[in-house]
Amino acid sequence: VTPAQGHPPRISETSRPWWEALAREQLSLQRCDSCQRFVFYPRIHCPHCGGLSLTWRPHEGSGVLYTWSAAAAPVSPAFAHLKRPILAIVELAPDVRVPTTLVGIDEKDVRIGMALRPVFDHDSYEGVTLLRYRP
Ligand SMILES: [Zn+2]
Repeated sequence: VTPAQGHPPRISETSRPWWEALAREQLSLQRCDSCQRFVFYPRIHCPHCGGLSLTWRPHEGSGVLYTWSAAAAPVSPAFAHLKRPILAIVELAPDVRVPTTLVGIDEKDVRIGMALRPVFDHDSYEGVTLLRYRP
């Protein structure tokens, strides 16, 4: 895959641990030290209880398909090589639903609730690892 020409995801100080974990082919999620719920996307406070102490914890990465749609055209330069990118929301834990794309599956075989495992895409953007999913 040729690196995309578009804008890569913008990495902030708050989200940096997420991206650094992906570069190591690992997932890391914030969890609130007060209410113990997971927090996604990365933030500086807990959206559930307002707690200000969030701790990054490893996650093994697998999830289930929450919802999906096939795009009629590529939605980003990173997906230009895909004819009909399958846009998906994958649930990794309660409260954690990650926007992503599915790879290695035909549209006709996609099912809500199916088990998915992570794919670490180091190639679409130089210096950034994207998280995609496959059955
Ligand atoms: Zn909390």
